[in-house]
Formats: sequence, structure tokens, C-alpha cells
Amino acid sequence: MKNSVTVQIYTGGFESPPEPLDVPLLIGKLEKILQKAEINCVMIGWNPNANIGGVVNFCKWHGIDVYLWLPVFSGLKGLSPLIGPNGNPVKQAFQAEKGERFDFGCPANPDNLRRVKQNVENRFSGVLYDGVFLDKIRFPSFICGLEPMLTCFCPYCLPLHGLSDELALARGDNPLGINLYSQLRYELEDEALARLFVYKADVITAAAADLSGHFRQKGFKVGLDLFAPFLSFFVGQDYGRLAPYADFIKPMFYRRTNAPAGIPFEFEKMLAAFGGDVWVRNAQKRFLRKAINTKKFTNAFINREIKGIRDQIGAVKLYAGVEINYLAKTAPVTAGYIRESISSLKGADGFALSWDLSSISDENLDAALNAL
Ligand SMILES: [Zn+2]
Repeated sequence: MKNSVTVQIYTGGFESPPEPLDVPLLIGKLEKILQKAEINCVMIGWNPNANIGGVVNFCKWHGIDVYLWLPVFSGLKGLSPLIGPNGNPVKQAFQAEKGERFDFGCPANPDNLRRVKQNVENRFSGVLYDGVFLDKIRFPSFICGLEPMLTCFCPYCLPLHGLSDELALARGDNPLGINLYSQLRYELEDEALARLFVYKADVITAAAADLSGHFRQKGFKVGLDLFAPFLSFFVGQDYGRLAPYADFIKPMFYRRTNAPAGIPFEFEKMLAAFGGDVWVRNAQKRFLRKAINTKKFTNAFINREIKGIRDQIGAVKLYAGVEINYLAKTAPVTAGYIRESISSLKGADGFALSWDLSSISDENLDAALNAL
């Protein structure tokens, strides 16, 4: 069977001016990929005014599914915020480049789910999409600090977790009280913290069920953009529970990305949030402890994560997200890194050549395609 890949094209934020797309160049790259691999889908988003007609026509002609790349709980104006234990919205200051936002609305608030659906209805019904690719379907991560992590206390969330302000973190080198990382989940010592993260998984699973049901009813397929499992636990993404709501999942195994969802970036921010350097002395799974203590997230480590995912998702397709684009500051990705990643990772159905086809150099694309 021919290798299978997915591709993403970033067109700008909902409210920012659209990215200027070089359509002939993009089509040239897609043609080049087609010589080596089957393209399962192209995910395009999420600027409503981007000039994507040429790319969409190319995909339709070649039988490639076109997905709307859609951030869910961040990036859309007017989402109801996450509320802290004092009843006020928590501050989430992190802002990335190119109009991408990382402040999150509350995933349990039904108004927010309605707003997401309405936004698609109002602004994206002009293109015949085959699917939606749900990005940022999660709670915020540690990049905004600790306070937004320890939420939400809005009227919808309070009854779901029943916590008050009893979320006290332990001190020292294991502030989350991690006892074990097993089957992609952490076992936490502190009962209140454990309950908080179960509630987060409950809420994100319910949101995925709701949105997936809505979009599938309209005939769309559904893809999910997910954090690497050892990070996804903290943002409410539980692979086994989310799988039934997806046609494919894309775990983001970005080992060289210094931006949100990038493994080293998220991990450094997690350490910074605790003001410490080592925080999981007791995580008994040796492969996790080693990765965390040495800050080396090797392909062997990622392969363990892929195996863990496989055990939980049944027949749902798994496209391993590897960053192929080159951006000097945020993704200094070399051809060697790409070759090594793609030839070493096992157990996926294919690769998501991430995260923006426009910024993929010929050299990096060739490296990826030759390693498939
Ligand atoms: Zn809430």
C-alpha cells in the first residue's frame, strides 16, 4: 500500500487578515507528495476570507478530502471565559504569532459549543468541506501559568467537579503528587487534583461527542488534533475516550517546536509553572521518568506513546504529527531530524506533515517523502 499522509495549510486566524497563499506553489508541493504517498486529507484553516479555491479544486480533482481546520475553545471571539475559584475570569496572557490565540473559553459552557457551530454555519458554508479537523479541543496548558490550569469554577463546571478552593499543590519535586503514569493516564496522590483532571477529561469528551455528533450529522468526517499523551492528560484529552468521536486522530509529536503544543516548549513551561526542575520523581514508568529527567523526548519514547494510543483507539486512524515546516525561531527543523523521526516512528497509519505546507522548504519536504 502507498504511504498515507495528511497535510495542513494555515490561512490565518478568524479575525486577522488572511495569510497570502501562493496557490501554484502549494499545488506543486501537493503534486510532489502525491508521487510518493496517498494524501488522506488536507486541513485548511481557519481564516474565513482566505483564497483557497484553487487548492480545494485540486483536492477535489484528486479525490483528496478537504477538512476545515477549526480551533474550538480558543481563537473565536466572545467565548465565555474560564473562571477561577474567586469567581473572576482567570488571566491567560499567552499570545502566539500570526493571529493565533491561546486563551481558552470554558469547554463545559453550552453557549461556547453553540458559538463554535454557529461560526462554522455563518462563515464556512461556502466551501464543500468533507470534514472538520478539531484543534484546541481542550483546556489550556501550562503555557499560561498555573492559575488557568486549576480551573474552571463557572456555574457549569462547579457541579461537575464539586471542588471549592481546596486545590493545594504539594511542594517539592512532585507538586502534582504523581504516583504513576500508566496506560496514558496519571495516578495522582491528591484526591482533589485527581478529581480535577477526571472532570477535565469528562468535559472534553462530552464536548467532542457533542461537536462530532453535530458535524457527522451534516455528513462531515471528524479529525482531532491532540497533545502527546503524557501532556494531553493535563488538558483533558483522554485518547481512549475521544476515539469514538473521530475518524482519525493526530497526536502532535513535535520534538523540535518551541511554540504551543511543541513537546520541549510545553514541558519547559510546565516546569516554569512549578518553579522547579524535576517534578515527577515518583512517575514509576521508567521510560517517562527518563525522558522527563533528561528532557530528551526520543523516538523510542514517542514509540511507547504510540503503542499506548494504539491499545486504546481501536480502528481509528492514527496520523503521527511530525513538524516538517522550517521556522527559524519556533521550528528549527532540519532534514536530518525529519528523516530520523519519520523512519523511526512505528505503529501509526501514516504521518501528518505538520503544521503548515506553505512554510515547508523543498529540502524538508524531500527529506520527509524519502523517509516514508
Ligand atoms: Zn467552566
